[in-house]
Amino acid sequence: MIVVFKKDADIKEIELLKKSLAKKGFHIHESHGENHYLIGLVGDTSKLDPGMLRAQTIVDKVVFVQEPYKKANRRFNPEDLVLDVDGHKLGGGFFSVIAGPCSVESRSQMVSIANSVKASGAGMLRGGAFKPRSSPYSFQGMGAEGLDILIEAKKETGLPIVTEIMSVSQLEKYHDMVDVIQIGARNMQNFDLLKEVGMLRKPVLLKRGMSATLEELLMSAEYVLAGGNSNVILCERGIRSFQKETRNVLDLSAVPVLKSKTHLPVIVDPSHATGIWSLVEPMSKAAVAAGADGLIIEVHNDPNNALCDGDQSIKPEKFDCLMKKLEKYLVLENKLLN
Ligand code: PEP
Ligand code: MN
Repeated sequence: MIVVFKKDADIKEIELLKKSLAKKGFHIHESHGENHYLIGLVGDTSKLDPGMLRAQTIVDKVVFVQEPYKKANRRFNPEDLVLDVDGHKLGGGFFSVIAGPCSVESRSQMVSIANSVKASGAGMLRGGAFKPRSSPYSFQGMGAEGLDILIEAKKETGLPIVTEIMSVSQLEKYHDMVDVIQIGARNMQNFDLLKEVGMLRKPVLLKRGMSATLEELLMSAEYVLAGGNSNVILCERGIRSFQKETRNVLDLSAVPVLKSKTHLPVIVDPSHATGIWSLVEPMSKAAVAAGADGLIIEVHNDPNNALCDGDQSIKPEKFDCLMKKLEKYLVLENKLLN
């Protein structure tokens, strides 16, 4: 971290600040130029509040040299993280597709979709039991009963289950029942929830908030990693923009950018990113080409009557077709479907 002082800064105050920073354990490198006086702080600045420095009347600006996230930083973890979810690998050359309906609606719906997506090559099963809906009058999910149904679908197919947990209280009650805990876009900065999943050792699928920067996403991942849980998957699911043609805008460049900054696997959700079922295939192909480690795709046997997100859900037959097409893209990218 570099601290630049104002031109007319009082030298006694600068000396006091330097002393207090040295007391905190930082090594201080000074640079005097004709038009500037600055110091470089060497040491772990992640716990130093830059606001505390900016608040000083003698300080002109504070410049960061390193990223504020450490445990999520590729600089300190050069190798890709390979996650193992019940034998299904994700990351470091292993590509996994998580598929299933937006919401669990019934046992027959879930088991039928689970069997189809497994036959098509999906590695994990998705399905929301607790749904974050914009309207309190919309279907809120089946709750605990939905989780029981997911477990039945897992027993039938062997597919690990990925499902959203929305609150700390749900986490305490149900975390045992889930293989991958999904933290939804709306909860990406629910720091209490992040701290709690950080205390588990279960994989966490962390979705990017719809207005979150990549650094904010990585800082949220840092919360989980800082608690000791190193099993985090990042998910790009589209961000808010001014255009109205699609539900969100898929930020595809987020994939290579994230992969350069972190060792954590990055997957793409083309369903929520576009909101339109016919765009799921082209965006899935694009995600593979961009270097994603996996996809999470909404598949429904009867989209016209889905209780949630039917318009962005593809039918099992379409999913099967997509998986076949993706095979060639995965070969080009040197990825192994898992
Ligand atoms: C979902 O995956 O069901 C979901 C609600 O996604 P997001 O949090 O990205 O909106
Ligand atoms: Mn959905």
